[in-house]
Amino acid sequence: MPAVAEARPQTAAAPYSAGIFSGPVFEMARRQFDRVADHLHMAADERERIFMPKRAISVSCPIHRDDGSVAVFTGYRVQHHLTLGPTKGGTRFASTVDVGEVGALAIWMSWKCALLGLPYGGGKGGVTVDPFSLSSRELEALSRRYMQEMIPFVGPQIDVMAPDMGTDERVMAWFMDTYSMYQGSTVTEIVTGKPVECGGTVGRREATGRGVAYCVRRAMEHMKIAPQHATAIIQGFGNVGSVTAQELALQGVRIVGVSDHTAAYYDAGGLDVEALLEHVREHRVLRGYSQESLCDPDELLTRPCDILVPAAMERAITANNAAHLKCRILAEGANGPTTPEADRILAERGEDLFIIPDILCNAGGVVVSYFEWVQDLQRYFWGHAEVREKLEQSLERAFQRVIARAGRDRISHRDAALALGVETVRHAKQTRGLFP
Ligand code: NAD
Repeated sequence: MPAVAEARPQTAAAPYSAGIFSGPVFEMARRQFDRVADHLHMAADERERIFMPKRAISVSCPIHRDDGSVAVFTGYRVQHHLTLGPTKGGTRFASTVDVGEVGALAIWMSWKCALLGLPYGGGKGGVTVDPFSLSSRELEALSRRYMQEMIPFVGPQIDVMAPDMGTDERVMAWFMDTYSMYQGSTVTEIVTGKPVECGGTVGRREATGRGVAYCVRRAMEHMKIAPQHATAIIQGFGNVGSVTAQELALQGVRIVGVSDHTAAYYDAGGLDVEALLEHVREHRVLRGYSQESLCDPDELLTRPCDILVPAAMERAITANNAAHLKCRILAEGANGPTTPEADRILAERGEDLFIIPDILCNAGGVVVSYFEWVQDLQRYFWGHAEVREKLEQSLERAFQRVIARAGRDRISHRDAALALGVETVRHAKQTRGLFP
């Protein structure tokens, strides 16, 4: 602990204003941070400086709809801090998107990048739109317009976007192309998560789910659970959820439950992951896959299983369902899936439940995004084996650091992961001064 921090008075509650940021997701990020700031004996003025985002940008994105009308969508980008390098983070297209949600996601990205030792601050962006309501042409128009509005505020050394909910490789290719048209040359390093033929890296599409499965394997070792006898339930069957299901199945885990925003299925005997993937490739969603294994989506989370993977939205595990979870491992594929109230309830289970906190569990995505950025900057591309090996090394290092810190300080895995991330940013700010 630096002497300067010890000399100042400590404050338990956040005394600073959240400014334009509000809503339950931002409040969650703030409560998590304050808990860790208390643990780190952080003074009030330092908390505000470390926690509050540096910039928030709001833009209007008009597009022509297929019927000839004009629709205007609101987009955001929040850049949390520039202390360690450019900001980095996904872009979400969802009807829930607002500046508070984006701000919280940007802040979580900061702690995640710092925990993994990546040279980035956190960023996040989004557009308030239901992407399922857009045709492919409308989605392209909106993606291009959003990037066009963001051009003055992003750059390979300023802020580098990536996919998140509702966006994918195609959207990243449109972002890159729009930025490149403006520059007059191809700038692949402006976004990550691009298709490989447009300067993407092998292994990025699978990276987040692969990372989740890697962390689950390590947690199973800790809990002495054999993969061949383990069962898993996965909420969300998009990029993160579907790859996690595939990778866990490859380890021998039986996938007994899956859901998306249209349907939930449970079969104690095991679901056919490849058949589910085929159905989603054809129909975009899980609805219509089967009648026999249909179940209530809320109830799915509390069905019996060894591994529960929330891989959809924030705040899936709350005070209402936390006490009813039956899993032994909670692997947070999504960002912010567990509320602080649920955390308190789950803590009562002690070592009977192994929580892999989001900023560790889903960090595989940003780790391989970093690899993609590095490869784009160098114009030198790696093979599958190299990407996978380096990904696993990064996650292993972070996994061990989190377990060791939790043991040393007698705190939860979440608090340990956040403490490691927050203190890295804190030390860099103390060293550099007020500018970044
Ligand atoms: P995606 O858009 O590919 O998939 C999201 C999935 O969640 C879809 O199957 C959707 O139907 C489902 N879903 C939405 N609302 C739901 C609900 N109420 N109940 C059940 N399912 C629901 O998004 P993604 O990229 O897989 O992201 C999922 C989560 O993982 C998000 O929290 C995101 O921030 C996080 N994340 C993503 C990445 C990445 O690389 N894509 C990296 C780190 C974290």
